[in-house]
Amino acid sequence: MANQLVDRFQRRITDLRVSVTDRCNLQCSYCMPSFGTTHVHRRELLSFEEIQRLVTLLASQGIEKVRLTGGEPLIRRDLIRLVQMIRQIPGVRKIPMTTNAVLLSLYAGALQEAGLTSANISLDTLQRERFQQITGFDKFDQVMAGIHKALEVGLPVKINVVAIRNFNDHEVLDFVELAGRLKVAVRFIEFMPFQDNQWSIKQFISARELRRIVGSRYKLVPLEKEALSSTSNNFRVEGQEGSIGFIASMTESFCSTCSRVRLTAEGYFRPCLHDSIEVDLKAPLREGVSDQELTELMQRALWQKWAEHPDFLASSGKVTAGPREMIRIGG
Ligand code: SAM
Ligand code: SF4
Repeated sequence: MANQLVDRFQRRITDLRVSVTDRCNLQCSYCMPSFGTTHVHRRELLSFEEIQRLVTLLASQGIEKVRLTGGEPLIRRDLIRLVQMIRQIPGVRKIPMTTNAVLLSLYAGALQEAGLTSANISLDTLQRERFQQITGFDKFDQVMAGIHKALEVGLPVKINVVAIRNFNDHEVLDFVELAGRLKVAVRFIEFMPFQDNQWSIKQFISARELRRIVGSRYKLVPLEKEALSSTSNNFRVEGQEGSIGFIASMTESFCSTCSRVRLTAEGYFRPCLHDSIEVDLKAPLREGVSDQELTELMQRALWQKWAEHPDFLASSGKVTAGPREMIRIGG
């Protein structure tokens, strides 16, 4: 196929994750290093116009889905304007967002009108006090209000739970109940190692074990994958609406069908979340290079996308993403 982003392993790249900020209004203990992280100055972030130019180039090469993430995307000033700009780009069919939802009740309506197509909301506990322990902030009620507002304005919602042993595993069944009550998808994600996030095998719970916990109470009926490249194995829960998914990032590699690339808030193009390979696009952008040169830079980086990430369990969680913490890559 001409004009397509295809890597060495014939994987067609259709999904772009754009991190719009390296800052966050929460400090989830498994994500944010406890001693903090460095943030870049605002002028080091890609401007909306720069993001628009890169997304336009990538969309002309086959990118169809542009997920906004961070850090926390909703703290980027004027984000609604960015959604409007991306919606105008030919070829872009979906604009989902991954958010902690603290600010979502304020913006859900305007985001939906601007063209946001869905929200993946990260929530790791249903207990207010525990939420404060995990995130450092007493914002549980705001998050729940954000979820309800998103549903009210008609945004499709998925709730993402990073499952960690002796941390939130006692709440797995409560999340299944929440999926039924709110009629949403709840997805459990395996805990992954990143720079300074204190990953340990002792805290790791596999998707298989999570499925067993859910299966001990509920009958799970497999659902078809949403797309070949989908990372989640989804199930209907007999007797209730909503669905449950398991994202086995660590134990069941889905690299062979990967369709994703990433753009960090500072303008680095990354072919893989877990690989340290990245190419700076901001400097050439600001030096005034042509669209052709930018496209070649991205294609050269894409050509280095590896076949798959190593087996993290076999290496006891050896970090392969390089010195960037999750918050500075974009989840
Ligand atoms: N702030 C937004 C949020 O929390 O949804 C977007 C950025 S956050 C880095 C994106 C996703 O990555 C969240 O769902 C978060 O729970 C997940 N995440 C962060 N650290 C992780 C880890 N070590 N393993 C698995 N998922 C992780
Ligand atoms: Fe912030 Fe999201 Fe990381 Fe939590 S998971 S600290 S909300 S970026």
